[in-house]
Amino acid sequence: MKYVSTRNPSLKVDFQEALFQGLAGDGGLFIPEEDLKLQQHFRAFDKHTSFQEIATLVSAYLLKGEVDAGGVQRIVKNAFPFQPRLVSTGEGLSVLELFHGPSSAFKDFGASFLAAAMEEFLQSSDRRAVILTATSGDTGSAVAQAFHNKKNVDVVILYPSGRVSPLQEKQLTTLGGNVLALEVEGSFDDCQRLVKSAFLDSDLRKALPLTSANSISLGRLIPQSFYYIWAFAQFKESLEEELFFCVPSGNFGNLTAGVWAWKWGLPVTGFIAATNANDVVPRYLETGNYQPKPSVATYSNAMDVGSPSNFERLEVVFQKNWNLMRTMIFGEVVNDAQTLETIRRVYQDHKMFLCPHTAVGYKAAELFRQRNRLDHAQICVLGTAHPAKFLDVVELATGKGPELPPNLALAASKEKHSVVMKPALEDLSKVLLERFA
Ligand SMILES: *Cc1c(COP(=O)(O)O)cnc(C)c1O
Repeated sequence: MKYVSTRNPSLKVDFQEALFQGLAGDGGLFIPEEDLKLQQHFRAFDKHTSFQEIATLVSAYLLKGEVDAGGVQRIVKNAFPFQPRLVSTGEGLSVLELFHGPSSAFKDFGASFLAAAMEEFLQSSDRRAVILTATSGDTGSAVAQAFHNKKNVDVVILYPSGRVSPLQEKQLTTLGGNVLALEVEGSFDDCQRLVKSAFLDSDLRKALPLTSANSISLGRLIPQSFYYIWAFAQFKESLEEELFFCVPSGNFGNLTAGVWAWKWGLPVTGFIAATNANDVVPRYLETGNYQPKPSVATYSNAMDVGSPSNFERLEVVFQKNWNLMRTMIFGEVVNDAQTLETIRRVYQDHKMFLCPHTAVGYKAAELFRQRNRLDHAQICVLGTAHPAKFLDVVELATGKGPELPPNLALAASKEKHSVVMKPALEDLSKVLLERFA
């Protein structure tokens, strides 16, 4: 199996190379060179097929020629001690809860697989890596948790001092071991700029095996396809008519992974691209004009993206053909007032808390069903974060707060350890060289 750049199909690398490079040399994003053909496996899966079985089978195809069967099993077993849960709320609507991993958000699936695959590659070739990543909150904790205690890897997280929530800060700063939290006296943009300049600094790159784990990494995207397949296997026997997945979207990585699963043979009728006011993709689907713009702040802040990086991957799937994309992806936009109303109503009706992102998806699924009179379709909404991570919005909507899951309660109870730093490259270099050179 080979992987190519979205901008040049002749720029080919293997999976390991794509993992450690992050971005393709020409500035494009890595995608599988060809579609897997998995129809007959999908036919054989049913509700008894475990998540790990599915992950192992698909990974074996994706890592073919690079990792043997034992290695694939190790990667999957190390990556997924947690799994998704499917909760029905009746009337052909269900929530695929993806927030039962270590940082309580769906990004755990991607980060955890990336970390396990890197560990496998590093150990077998006796290499080391220093992962450098900037975070505005959520992504950093998934990455930190995923790489915590992995062999041959150190992970350095830069976060803006005073600008992440207290709980997020605890998630970043209480792991210790091979996780170093750098508290930067500046903004998230400063953190990102520092990481970028570190990667461009030839002295640093010579001294340290720097690598990235950011959200456009192929190793984070691929494993997100596994839970669409697992959810399909769960539904399969009871499916009467169409099956749609509704995906609360920001950078469109999650939705792209689902579309790949469909390209590999998963019988999905369509995908609903649910966004908040940052509606670049739904606008494109409606008008054919793709117009990125500055993001606006909403309650579902992990989806506040004005220029979604994975759109480039989606375009390749649909051969840059607007009409083709419109046969499979349907946009729905949900505003903040509707988000609050949905959290309140779902709590009242089902005693179930939704995080603001999942609420955007839930409302979008309802709007889509009404608009298209899909009385018997199954619509599966991806539940992207645990509601306790967004306590203020959930309380505003319902007057109540969900309990912290044990992993978050544990982080909240521990003592913070961070290294405070000015937003300057020489300060960052000094810390990195002292620790890791
Ligand atoms: C990242 C994130 C999203 C958006 O996912 P994309 O893959 O960027 O579209 C939605 N909800 C939550 C909670 C997230 O952390």
